[in-house]
Amino acid sequence: MSLRIYNTLSRELENFSPLEPGHVRMYVCGMTIYDLCHIGHARMMMAFDVVQRWLRASGLRVTYVRNITDIDDKIIKRALERGITIRALTDEMIAAMHTDIAALGIEPPSIEPRATEYVPQMLSLIGTLEGKGLAYRASNGDVNYSVRKFDGYGKLSGKSIDELRAGERVAVLDGKEDPLDFVLWKASKPEEPPEAKWDSPFGSGRPGWHIECSAMCGATLGETFDIHGGGMDLQFPHHENEIAQSEGANGKPLAKFWVHNGFVRVDNEKMSKSLGNFFTIREVLAKYDVETVRFFIVRAHYRSALNYSDAHLDDARNALKRLYTALSLVAPAPVAAIDWADPYAARFKAAMDEDFGTPEAMAVLFELAGEVNKTRSAELAGLLKALGGCLGVLQGDPQAFLQAGAGLDEAAIAEQIAARAAAKAAKNFAEADRIRQVLLSQGIVLKDSAAGTTWEAAQ
Ligand SMILES: [Zn+2]
Repeated sequence: MSLRIYNTLSRELENFSPLEPGHVRMYVCGMTIYDLCHIGHARMMMAFDVVQRWLRASGLRVTYVRNITDIDDKIIKRALERGITIRALTDEMIAAMHTDIAALGIEPPSIEPRATEYVPQMLSLIGTLEGKGLAYRASNGDVNYSVRKFDGYGKLSGKSIDELRAGERVAVLDGKEDPLDFVLWKASKPEEPPEAKWDSPFGSGRPGWHIECSAMCGATLGETFDIHGGGMDLQFPHHENEIAQSEGANGKPLAKFWVHNGFVRVDNEKMSKSLGNFFTIREVLAKYDVETVRFFIVRAHYRSALNYSDAHLDDARNALKRLYTALSLVAPAPVAAIDWADPYAARFKAAMDEDFGTPEAMAVLFELAGEVNKTRSAELAGLLKALGGCLGVLQGDPQAFLQAGAGLDEAAIAEQIAARAAAKAAKNFAEADRIRQVLLSQGIVLKDSAAGTTWEAAQ
């Protein structure tokens, strides 16, 4: 294989080949399910959707596990506020998540474990850690992990325990021997609903967030697997703690590659509820069509910060129109299997093989669209559509996409037609032609007649 992936653990691009020939096992930390998915969740799920699509396009079988955290402080609080059971809340939010991410063309994972279904595995893992002296029972009834006892704590975040501790603002120890120690099993509190309590050898309680993932990835993928992914913000402490738990219990590396996607910023600011620049997937899809949103996210490299703004979404829609315009000019020839020896396909593959380089891969699609515009080749149009399919774009009806887009810009088109008429009147035919070409690249065909100029969507 020629695929290289950036590994957060080594901070280097490394050659990738699956531990089990031909089969990739990947675990990604999913949602804590108490509210609707926002654009940051969409970005994370899209990043790993591109990863799984490209691994499959490379001829590999992929077992992709993305978990659901369905027990947590925020979930308990929200269910109490709404006066419904935890199960009713999480079922509702999981259904909403499935609807929203399917709308964006994000393929479902192979396995989607819910934390509450893996409590026995979590308890067994905590028992193992206690037996190895890595976990202790605290005075408040919790069971905690003792980070000082695990060699290599901090290896993912690249920091020593002392550096990490200096960065922590933990004032209350909560029965912890060290401020970095974290909870494996939380003792039940009287005010918590019965649904949030499990009997265990450590007393009535519920699991901590970190142990959930160690148990679910171990149960679904085994002790060591190929890729562990998630948002950049999970590197510390969540993923550091998963490593401490799983490797502490099994004595084996948890994952060969640690892959993290970048943040979403809104108008160059951090997205947050308090800043009021926080968007759910539903709010974004009320303004923009699904493929534009998908294209906008996918064309940025997964590790870079993604800056969300209306201007960037408008720009993405116009760029996508250029690609669809090419596909509207000539019916794409069906492609049974992409010929990776084709020069365009080979360059697309080289881009994707270098840490899923979607910006460079998209650039190849634009060159290909330019060739289709020039040559009207059905084969090249077929290749354009097939390569777009590797990224989950360009599979729709070109006319439908262009007409939907054109309908929104009538005033802008009228302005361009007026500018072109003025250029012609001034005998600036080069400028008049340039305007006609620009409109054509956006799927708008001009028709001149004695009565003036009219337009229609490209056929
Ligand atoms: Zn996790």
